[in-house]
Amino acid sequence: MNVREDVNTSSTQLPPTPYYLLNEASIVANMKIVERLCELSGAKALLALKCFATWGVFNVMQPYLHGTTSSSLNEVRLGHETFGDDKETHAYSVAYSADEIDEVLSHADKIIFNSISQLNAFKDRANSKNIPVGLRLNPQTSNSSFIIADPARPFSRLGEHDKDSITAVLADITGVMIHNNCENDSFDAFSKSLADIETRFGSLLAELEWVSLGGGIHFIAPDYPLEKLAARLKAFSEKYGVQVYLEPGEASIHGAGTLVTTVLDTMHNQKNLAVVDASIEAHMLDLLIYRESAPITAINEAEVTLSPVDMEQAANNPDNTIIYGRSCLAGDIFGEYALSDASHNPLNIGDQIAFGNAAGYTMVKKNWFNGVNMPAIVIRRLDGTIDIQRQFDYQDYKSSLS
Ligand SMILES: *Cc1c(COP(=O)(O)O)cnc(C)c1O
Repeated sequence: MNVREDVNTSSTQLPPTPYYLLNEASIVANMKIVERLCELSGAKALLALKCFATWGVFNVMQPYLHGTTSSSLNEVRLGHETFGDDKETHAYSVAYSADEIDEVLSHADKIIFNSISQLNAFKDRANSKNIPVGLRLNPQTSNSSFIIADPARPFSRLGEHDKDSITAVLADITGVMIHNNCENDSFDAFSKSLADIETRFGSLLAELEWVSLGGGIHFIAPDYPLEKLAARLKAFSEKYGVQVYLEPGEASIHGAGTLVTTVLDTMHNQKNLAVVDASIEAHMLDLLIYRESAPITAINEAEVTLSPVDMEQAANNPDNTIIYGRSCLAGDIFGEYALSDASHNPLNIGDQIAFGNAAGYTMVKKNWFNGVNMPAIVIRRLDGTIDIQRQFDYQDYKSSLS
């Protein structure tokens, strides 16, 4: 079977599990919050493709965003190709190679270099194509609770921090990018760290045309003071005379996707165990990296809101169920749950479990570990139609290696 023939099959029928299910209505709900923030603050919002690059839903995101931002040649090309010519395409990478820079520039409206040495190496190429140039700054403070994701970690390579060195290249740049938040849901913490940035780099910012404040601001949380954030951004933009950019990744698609799986086996080892037909290592890798668990959003298509139990508190509760992935990694665990709370204890073979928060940092990281079947990508369109956007099979696995 040629899987590409399945692309964009419209039907009301869902495919066999496992599949990622994206809900366009939820994406649009997030987009309306982004749009409101931009309207109130004057900021422009760019989707961070490293978080979410499932271009099959870009047509519902485009009307609300000003473009995309990227972390590699492939991402900047994808942003340019799929988000439309009338949108902005920002290029950034921790390090560009000399042989890719011209192609990067052919897709970019702005290019942001990570270091002064990269700036010096490639600024002439950008200038010759009239592409505005920026530099990533590192304020050496951050709002990130994970050292692995902390741009301000000791000995960080992410951006320049020395004010004198930056001042010396100010004539070569028109803007800067600073990304130092990670799922930060506290407006006060954001505002304080912006104040740190102003103290440190304020006199430089006043010389520039634009400042990108990166992603990681969790302004789509229901209780987030959006108006305060907008006022803070507007005042910042007016004080320094700069266009502010935001680069929301997770905030753009939070809550908009699930990973739908089926229980293949159940066992008992002091607790109830269930094994589903997907894997966190292969399909929700961030859970493993950040030692987190997935919420359950549906059991057998009935909606539930079931948070994982706290692993330490749960230690000795024999009624709990641990849901495992099917890879051979011993710790391939979606989470431990008090399923009696969902009137669903114990799980049975054939039960269908949907895990939440499966849109961001999932599909962009999926891999073929253990050769486990790759979940299909399914989209519930705004009109309710189900599109089986992409299915994967053995040939995809085989062609990912050689
Ligand atoms: C990761 C990243 C983003 C997006 O972060 P989210 O937490 O997903 O909003 C934006 N900009 C840069 C430079 C990043 O590295």
